[in-house]
Amino acid sequence: MPAIYNGAMFSLVNSQPIFPRAAACLLVALLAGVFLGLPALGAERASGIVVLDPAQAQEGQKLKSGWRFRVGDDLAWARPGYDDRDWGEVNLPHRWEPSAGEDAGAYSWYRLHIRFSSEPDWLTGQSLALRMGAVLSAYELYAGGKLVGSLGRLPPTPDPAIDYDRHQIISLPASAIDANGELVLALRVWGGEHTVEANWGSGPYRGQFQLGRQDRLLLGMVIDEIPGLLAGVLCFVFGLYHIYIYYRNRHLESFLWFGLTAIVIGVYALSLSQWRYLLGWDFVAYKKIEYAALYLVPPLCLQGVWSLLDRPVGRVLRIYQLSFLLAGAAFLVTPGLEIHWRTLPGWQFWTLPALALTGWRISQSALEGHEEARTLGLGAMLFIAACLHDIAVDQFQLSDPRLLHWGFLVFVAFMAVSLANRMTAALGHLEEEVAQRTAELEQANRRLTEAALVDPLTGLFNRRGFTAEAEVEIKRLFRGGRGFSVILTDVDHFKSINDRYGHACGDHVLARVASLLRDGVRDVDRVARWGGEEFILLLPETGGEGAARVAEKLRERLEEHLFDFQGTRLHISMTFGATEYRRGESLDHCVARADAALYRGKDAGRNRVVLDIERRAAATP
Ligand code: GH3
Ligand code: MG
Ligand code: MG
Repeated sequence: MPAIYNGAMFSLVNSQPIFPRAAACLLVALLAGVFLGLPALGAERASGIVVLDPAQAQEGQKLKSGWRFRVGDDLAWARPGYDDRDWGEVNLPHRWEPSAGEDAGAYSWYRLHIRFSSEPDWLTGQSLALRMGAVLSAYELYAGGKLVGSLGRLPPTPDPAIDYDRHQIISLPASAIDANGELVLALRVWGGEHTVEANWGSGPYRGQFQLGRQDRLLLGMVIDEIPGLLAGVLCFVFGLYHIYIYYRNRHLESFLWFGLTAIVIGVYALSLSQWRYLLGWDFVAYKKIEYAALYLVPPLCLQGVWSLLDRPVGRVLRIYQLSFLLAGAAFLVTPGLEIHWRTLPGWQFWTLPALALTGWRISQSALEGHEEARTLGLGAMLFIAACLHDIAVDQFQLSDPRLLHWGFLVFVAFMAVSLANRMTAALGHLEEEVAQRTAELEQANRRLTEAALVDPLTGLFNRRGFTAEAEVEIKRLFRGGRGFSVILTDVDHFKSINDRYGHACGDHVLARVASLLRDGVRDVDRVARWGGEEFILLLPETGGEGAARVAEKLRERLEEHLFDFQGTRLHISMTFGATEYRRGESLDHCVARADAALYRGKDAGRNRVVLDIERRAAATP
């Protein structure tokens, strides 16, 4: 029965979810594998003695099976010669449930009788050692009848906080092996009062128990601890990075929760690692950190999953999350570890709603077609498969490594994938938005440019628009095109129109003049408002004489036109100055000549066309 507590206790947080059909199939397959693997266990032992090949032992021989076990206490049981054949036989890891209060049940012994099949020649100059995994709780190790190492004191009073997570390598004196090449290991374990919570049982419960050369065992231990260290550091750095992303993009809230979850898991993993002993802190401090992390994981995971699935956290869920935080904080400040041991089963029970809720939320969102729900669901299934695998390992005392930590990391990795998907989607939206904004900007720019070239009152080109057009014409001329002429025209006595009929009427007249001019010339001719009541025309492939003729036609047309503004009827006249563009001159120069011609026309009495080249009036009314 004790084995049932194994996995749940030390391996993370049961906080993950979901049992869709695919997961169930996966689990059945996994469990079937576990059952089929059962018969392969045990069997190194013959006639109560485990025979070891020294060459194999050099690299570190796992001491799993062949142990004799007995509850009770007698120091004579440490002696190699003691006959333990009537003891029970167990495999490590193994725990027993001490019967509370009884002194006889406070101790138990594990004995292993080993015989080397030949003399371990490598022993000269190298020391033989035993790598000890984690044992609940204080223990003493005897080899060849002598005490060779221990953890805590027996009985462990007055300080019951035995560092039951510590793995250690205990060196064995060469004298522990007798003349027949036999070595008897005896482990005396405390399981009475003042240990960790009674439910946990006592005895070796985790890690490797190996015999071998001390240096190789040390190396093996370091190597075994590297993945855990890496996982912890990676999780931590990963978490920091996600918080940084959130810091830069405050709307990516799920990155914050995911980052915090990853940091907490990183801290948890590091607090479990043997590397923690490098810090040299008190055992209680490591445990406080470990439990604090444990209490933070369920609320953070819930928050992360909810925000990934775009769900607001309701009031009840918020209270549920807070309960973890408050309990975690309370336990952190309570001295000693007793409170953790006593409440951990409660914590496990309390995480069940988190599991159920997360599973429900993910499957619900998956049904609603939320894309991230499928990714998260797959991660959750793998995590549950790992949970069940570990339960099977505990139940059947299998030698498989536990997978729960990795299962949880896989779930976290799937969360990360989901976040990355979200980021990609966000980037996609962003690009679309940028493209749309750019198009809008370009359109606005085009409108602005047009507005800068067009006169709003008349809809004709303004001076700038005309200049641009004329420059094009000048360039064309350079490429061998034919010449053009310019006509500048001004409304006669326009001021008096304003004065007599009002500015609005003046505007109306200007707009009408503009359309009369526009309609009076060819499509290829350009008409623009030069300023005020002055207009300018550019007539491509037209000489001065032709321009004067066009001007005359326009002058007549305007003179004849009856302007009608809200019942006010009036006639106007215009004076025209025309000139032919001369190759090589600037546009300004050309316009100045047209202007001069126009003013000669004004001086000569208005309402006429003056051609610059000929310096004569082409027509008079
Ligand atoms: P002239 O025959 O010598 O050209 O006399 P004129 O009165 O037409 O010339 P003057 O330069 O004295 O006056 C031009 C007037 O045109 C003055 C200005 O108020 C008016 N004017 C300029 N732009 C506009 C406009 O956009 N709308 C209106 N209603 N009037 C304008
Ligand atoms: Mg005028
Ligand atoms: Mg004028």
